[in-house]
Amino acid sequence: MIIDQEKCIGCKLCQPYCPMGAIEYLEEEKKCRINLDECVECGICLRPDPCKKGALYQQELDELRLLRQVFSNPLVPHKTTSVPGRGTEEMKTNDVTGRFKRGHAGVACELGRPGTGTRFKDVEKVAMAVAKVGVTFEPHNPVTALMVDNTTGKLKDEILNEKVLSAIVEFDVEIGKLSEALTAIKNVAPELDTVFSLDLACRCEPDNSVPAEEIARSVGFRPSINGKTNVGLGRPLAEEE
Ligand code: SF4
Ligand code: SF4
Repeated sequence: MIIDQEKCIGCKLCQPYCPMGAIEYLEEEKKCRINLDECVECGICLRPDPCKKGALYQQELDELRLLRQVFSNPLVPHKTTSVPGRGTEEMKTNDVTGRFKRGHAGVACELGRPGTGTRFKDVEKVAMAVAKVGVTFEPHNPVTALMVDNTTGKLKDEILNEKVLSAIVEFDVEIGKLSEALTAIKNVAPELDTVFSLDLACRCEPDNSVPAEEIARSVGFRPSINGKTNVGLGRPLAEEE
């Protein structure tokens, strides 16, 4: 996003709309300017149309700015998944997708939030930490598409400093290795310059226990159990193999 310095009158009406604090007021010039290093191209400032001077506008985006946009603007779909926003299908619908089989767990590490965002160097730290455990990264996830090697979790060097609102590292792991994978995330957490939340998905056992919950607790996380019922949505439950 750009502010045309010729047209801006410094009224600051656009400033409160930015969730990243990227719209700066320049005292000397008495105008606003976008800090492009912090701007994630989410487009939120433009939607309420606050600028009556026509100073705030969406510039033509190069490849790296487009990358920021697809991870930050929920109205722009990813090429890799055709899903808007962070671009992953929901893990919560595992009862109909059957993506995660019995004996496996699905894990999503959601890095960044409005106000903090995340840079891909932090996304890479998490991906490389869990890759060492031997996880399988979700192929229809836009972060996986940015890996140069999905056995190591290494991302393309040229994107590491790019900042986005949020990005999700998503993988399948054998339940026997879940503890190790969660410990790897816990160990790398102090090195991250952002916040994250974890989503875990697994099949319940016949006695209603939830293996992933118990393992997460044993590692020191405090999971909150959520169910998602898809009865009535017209999709049959996934068959167990
Ligand atoms: S609303 Fe427009 S004129 Fe006012 S500070 Fe923002 S860009 Fe400048
Ligand atoms: S595009 Fe998003 S991050 Fe950039 S200035 Fe506008 S609201 Fe802020």
